[in-house]
Amino acid sequence: MELSKEIRNKYTAVIGLEIHAQMLTKSKAYSSDINEYGAIPNTNVSPITLGHPGTLPKMNKKTIDYAIKMGIACNCNIAEHQHFARKNYFYPDLPKGYQITQDTTPICTGGYILINDDEGNEKKIALTRIHMEEDAGKSIHDIDPFNTLIDLNRAGVPLIEIVSEPDIKTSQEAYNYVTEIRKLVRYLDICDGNMEEASLRCDANISVMLKDAKAFGAKVEVKNMNSIRNVKNAIEYEIKRQILAIENGETISQETRNYDALKNETSAMRTKEAANDYRYFPEPDLQPIKISSEHINSIKAEMPPLPNYLFKKYTNDLGLTEYDARNLTDNKDIALYYENIIKHTQNYKAAVNWLMGDIKSYLNKYAVTISEFPILPERIAELIKLIETGKISNNLASQKVFPKMIEDTKLTPLQIAENNNWIQESNEDNLINYINEIMNENPEETERFKNGEKKLMGFFMGQLMKKSKGKADPKTASQLINKTIK
Ligand code: ADP
Ligand code: MG
Repeated sequence: MELSKEIRNKYTAVIGLEIHAQMLTKSKAYSSDINEYGAIPNTNVSPITLGHPGTLPKMNKKTIDYAIKMGIACNCNIAEHQHFARKNYFYPDLPKGYQITQDTTPICTGGYILINDDEGNEKKIALTRIHMEEDAGKSIHDIDPFNTLIDLNRAGVPLIEIVSEPDIKTSQEAYNYVTEIRKLVRYLDICDGNMEEASLRCDANISVMLKDAKAFGAKVEVKNMNSIRNVKNAIEYEIKRQILAIENGETISQETRNYDALKNETSAMRTKEAANDYRYFPEPDLQPIKISSEHINSIKAEMPPLPNYLFKKYTNDLGLTEYDARNLTDNKDIALYYENIIKHTQNYKAAVNWLMGDIKSYLNKYAVTISEFPILPERIAELIKLIETGKISNNLASQKVFPKMIEDTKLTPLQIAENNNWIQESNEDNLINYINEIMNENPEETERFKNGEKKLMGFFMGQLMKKSKGKADPKTASQLINKTIK
């Protein structure tokens, strides 16, 4: 399947994404069943989850709070009054025969996600809505060769669905959008963002149109991408497929397609004609919800700083590069650790270098996260100060002091340097005395250095290090050698 640049350039792609995120609540959305991935199949299923007659759902308030958090993070309007709706359909993994969702009154409307476009410029992707609903169970087709197995542990797990406007133009923008959403839900601690385990799922709606066309083309919905990379690949494939079909004189029909990652292809699942009619109606067993502005404010007060805010702070206020700011803000715990170092030092760049250098290497080496890293952030700031004030060199800090700080987290870097006799000699009078002695002992070299033989600096440094037993601060030492001899 080949598409020339000329033909590709005749078309614009239009993409809208629907993302489902499983909420990290302890119990399910409308029952006290445990919400946990990977439990023994069909163990977290009470009669409520199974929808037995006479059972009643009960709202898990945490789900509402988590949805509000996401709404605040995306600058959405949060509805004061809302209710749930029943979405009716029959499927073996849906024991109630309906899903409790929100139809006409989603908890959040409007808002946006900030991403980078293909040129690296900031772009707003508008959100249509975020609503709360429940997950269905899981049909497992690949364990038993003859039967489909059903695991209902997932039935009733709380979800939010985040629906974007069709503002996304390229597969890379889609990639950046999903990455941003995953980062946000992780910062907010409302979803683990794991696409492989399907706790974050993305359906992509894709259409193409001629660049000067006024109306969007018919959209195709692609499902089953289990990584952000696959979302990108599926969209890229689908754009190509649709353009080639149109160039071939075919019309694109509205349908749902399945993505096969191994073949990197999409294939038709069902057409619009075969689509369900869900017969939505208000859920009679759950009370409507009212959310006060006080409640929204109390949630706002608990929220961590968000990646975008931190990114702007680091690039605009702290003068860090975009590269550094991106690395720091990719992961909330790294960003918060950084925030805690810079409470105690203004050497922002040194703090990045320690975090992204020695600390990251330690985390990689021992396959641990920053939350398991033994050194307190303020100790790193103290280490930076020791280097700044010339008490120890960068090398010594990294090779000697840092490992000892990990060994004994009770000791400050200053104590470690003192206990081991590592404090550099930066007392200028002492150093000048040494230099005078060296000049007396080496008149010939002194004369040559005076006459401009710069390479003798190494010789004098060597002598000075010997006399100071290796503790001369190299920067001060070289300045003093120049000054004293000349
Ligand atoms: P449906 O009724 O099929 O669910 P919606 O209007 O609710 O369709 O839109 C679902 C998603 O599809 C949204 O993310 C929306 O932005 C996107 N979308 C709508 N129209 C198009 C289109 N022509 N091309 C691409 N995406 C679209
Ligand atoms: Mg829809």
